[in-house]
Amino acid sequence: MEHFPLNVIHDISNIIYPKLCAACHETLNKHEKVICLKCQLGLPKTDHVLYDDNPVAKKFWGKVPIERALAMYHFHKTSRLQEVMHALKYKGRQDVGIRLGNLMGYHLQQYQLFADVDYLTAVPLHKDKLEKRGYNQSGVIAAGLSEVLHIPYDADILQRSLFTETQTKKSRMERWENVKDIFEVQKQDLVTNKHILLLDDVITTGSTLEACAVKLIANQGTKVSIVAVAHAEL
Ligand SMILES: [Zn+2]
Repeated sequence: MEHFPLNVIHDISNIIYPKLCAACHETLNKHEKVICLKCQLGLPKTDHVLYDDNPVAKKFWGKVPIERALAMYHFHKTSRLQEVMHALKYKGRQDVGIRLGNLMGYHLQQYQLFADVDYLTAVPLHKDKLEKRGYNQSGVIAAGLSEVLHIPYDADILQRSLFTETQTKKSRMERWENVKDIFEVQKQDLVTNKHILLLDDVITTGSTLEACAVKLIANQGTKVSIVAVAHAEL
């Protein structure tokens, strides 16, 4: 049997099944993966990597001690990021989450902010949502980030215990009452004296991440850093 060079095979399969950008739906060229270069460059990056007192870090001041906290992108309703997150959450596109995590990793690794982190984990999804979607979208992004930063990802460090109603119409205090005890650390031995990087997809008030962080730092010697994919300014 004759062997075709790989690029020829790619070109042929792309004619039969053109691969489209998950954000703009234009055809990807053979060097592009999942999200085209133009859309990648159009994702609205924050400058949080440069400042310890960035707006996401400040959300936790006076509430829970966090080593470093940042969001990678701004969350605008009309941005390419919205389209990317939609594909991940509602169209079963786990490849989009992996790619997004990879892209975050390429950016973050230039700054070495999380070089001393031992484990990466994600805010657990509610059980009903997990069953419906089949995966935790934040966990998928964390897995993609883990590939690039070489920090082991562990999906089961935290677990979500109770049912919670939707957060959107509540005041900050009501939200906190709603979430403060819904997470538990189920791998206490693993996190003892370790630095944990906690990932969530979108940060708004920060109360969900705060609830997770409080439970983590209750363990002996555990330190917590936070990375959100996007910051939704209120
Ligand atoms: Zn695109």
